[in-house]
Amino acid sequence: MPQFPALEQALKHYFGYDSFRLGQRQIIEAALQNRDLLIIMPTGGGKSLCFQLPALLKRGLTVVVSPLISLMQDQVQALRDNGISAAFINSSLNYKQVLACEQSILKGKTKLLYIAPERLLGERFLPFLDVVQNEIGIAGFAIDEAHCVSEWGHDFRPEYRQLQQLRYRYADVPVMALTATATERVRQDIIQQLALKQPNIHIASFNRPNLYYEVQPKQKNTYNQILKIIKQSKSSGIIYCLSRNKVDELTFKLQHSGIKALPYHAGLSNEERASNQTRFIRDDVQVMVATVAFGMGINKLDVRFVIHHDLPRNLENYYQESGRAGRDGEPARCTIFFGYGDRKTIEFLIKQKPDPQEQQIASQQLRQVINYAEGTDCRRTIQLSYFGEHFPGNCGNCDNCLESKPVEDWTIEAMKFLSCVARCQERFGMNYIIDVLRGSGDQKILQNGHHQLSTYGIGKDKSVDEWKMLGRSLLHQGLVEQTTDGYPILKLNPRSWEVMKRQRSVSIAVPTPKPDIIATAKSNLENELRKAAEVEMLFEKLRSLRKQLADAQSVPPYVVFGDSTLRLMAQQQPQTLEEFKEISGVGAHKLAQYGKQFIAEIRAYCQEQKLVEVPHQRQSQTSLADDIEIASPSYTQLLTLDLFKQNFTVEEIAEKRNLRPTTITNHLAELIEMNQPVDLNRLVPPERQKKIWQALQAVGVGSLTQVCEYLGSSYTYDEIKLVRGWWRRENRS
Ligand code: ADP
Ligand code: ZN
Repeated sequence: MPQFPALEQALKHYFGYDSFRLGQRQIIEAALQNRDLLIIMPTGGGKSLCFQLPALLKRGLTVVVSPLISLMQDQVQALRDNGISAAFINSSLNYKQVLACEQSILKGKTKLLYIAPERLLGERFLPFLDVVQNEIGIAGFAIDEAHCVSEWGHDFRPEYRQLQQLRYRYADVPVMALTATATERVRQDIIQQLALKQPNIHIASFNRPNLYYEVQPKQKNTYNQILKIIKQSKSSGIIYCLSRNKVDELTFKLQHSGIKALPYHAGLSNEERASNQTRFIRDDVQVMVATVAFGMGINKLDVRFVIHHDLPRNLENYYQESGRAGRDGEPARCTIFFGYGDRKTIEFLIKQKPDPQEQQIASQQLRQVINYAEGTDCRRTIQLSYFGEHFPGNCGNCDNCLESKPVEDWTIEAMKFLSCVARCQERFGMNYIIDVLRGSGDQKILQNGHHQLSTYGIGKDKSVDEWKMLGRSLLHQGLVEQTTDGYPILKLNPRSWEVMKRQRSVSIAVPTPKPDIIATAKSNLENELRKAAEVEMLFEKLRSLRKQLADAQSVPPYVVFGDSTLRLMAQQQPQTLEEFKEISGVGAHKLAQYGKQFIAEIRAYCQEQKLVEVPHQRQSQTSLADDIEIASPSYTQLLTLDLFKQNFTVEEIAEKRNLRPTTITNHLAELIEMNQPVDLNRLVPPERQKKIWQALQAVGVGSLTQVCEYLGSSYTYDEIKLVRGWWRRENRS
């Protein structure tokens, strides 16, 4: 095994990635020091790498405990596709295959073994593992989906409890537990049940910056809206419905509209479900219409949209279900269609529950979901506050933030609201407080004598809905609390008192009529789509090549290359193996396996483009420049600019923002072009700037590749892009 001076090199060599995601490096370093670890990261956060890379760098076998056969097979397939020797043992193998697998382990040929807990702890396997430990060593145990150990989690597995034995039988072998489930209770349970030794705990933010969240009203034309989302996206998506009937009905309609869609629910036979799932993962069909039965353990990273046709039952479920979108980190869209009918249906279902306590919990969860759906605050703020995480808002990637509803000062109203809570002695819920504020003659209010309070009737000027909007916003902003055990009662906190004492002002986002917003959002979108069209065409070509290669090996397409890697290929258009190797997601093994085919496709495309497009591009130079003249920086570009002004390097900004360095460089290049204060000298040394400038003068607005060819290989695309921003700015008018 070669020794790697830097972990980054190992990362590039085995997995093809250029940099670690936030937290990964620390985790891997701790793992290499044989620490026990508890890792809590959202779906798509990159948990697998945290045990896979140490497994490759350490001596001996790493045993990965995973609850689902399909997950194991997918992960092993993906590893093998990177040239890594991984294997699984589960009930899909026959006796002979298991023996062969064990042989290969004992010869030290297998670095990672995936296995289900009941197998691992079975009478047959543990003695074998003892032999492994003596002969080649056990590098570590990784317990995936570790929340299964807890009864408080959402899918408790009794067999996970037995995993404690590992800790005693192999006392010196480090254990790493990984999960995407957040609550404190489950965390403590994992540590205790697995007997982790002073574990190093990593809790990543649950924010998923690449997901766009939106809520749309459910109307008569909802079907058309859904069709539009499907057609715009052109890639895979899931549509969740509340009932089997709805699933069947919607699948049928979509098929009639020419969409490749399949159903998934508990009413189908096992074979049908398995086959539909596989066809979805392999991209044979675009859309899976499903009940919530679908999704657990589905290893499909490139789902580009998740639509909730009906209101989800609670926010935790919504987070998990919508979280199946964009696991590859690329942009994806999460939409809820919300109508009052849904509320009635769910209320009906809740009433069917026999246990009053369960009913109470369920209705409280329903209220939280409705708060989310009706909320005017940043959707992330609302979701993450549910997980106890404070998110400042203004994410720039949800409907509420993008539609930039006018923010109004509602301090006076907030003072009225909160002092009404105080005067009612923090013993009532939101509806009651609003009734008092609006001077309702409700019997209960009269009985409590609350019609005599000074706050009675001082809020008649606002409607019930307006007060609710304020109340919800106060909750989301943490300016008032709500009890969570049973009936929700409003409670004041120190921040509430600051508002009442006028030490803190309160702003809330007030909705405006929708059509305008949709129109501007649409025209922005169309503009972007136009610019992206060229890249998109190549991307599509690369996708079909990927599908061909994947089908030939019977693996899901993303195992060949992820969407993000294909997209980079489409953007950077590498023409040589050397250039191809630089693309994030291309490791040594995949370079050898697929490089030539992809380069051939890209070259062919560029040839075609040159024939038809280059003259046209030269002509349109001025109009392109005009576009940019009026352009102003986007929110995300401004965030980058802000950090850059604070003297952070590109890498540091990327790390902080959880984006790729290339993305940050693109921001900076565009900012330079827009004449924003970016000091180019900090990015590219002046003498190199000069050389690149000369190349641009000589080559003109051709592709980056042409400029690169002119310059020779010692210049990077990033440097050229940055100088090109400046060059374009100067060559305008
Ligand atoms: P999780 O298990 O946390 O849901 P995965 O381990 O499946 O997430 O990772 C999600 C995606 O992110 C995968 O496509 C994986 O290859 C990719 N990924 C992980 N780490 C990195 C990295 N450092 N750079 C780029 N992509 C990464
Ligand atoms: Zn937002």
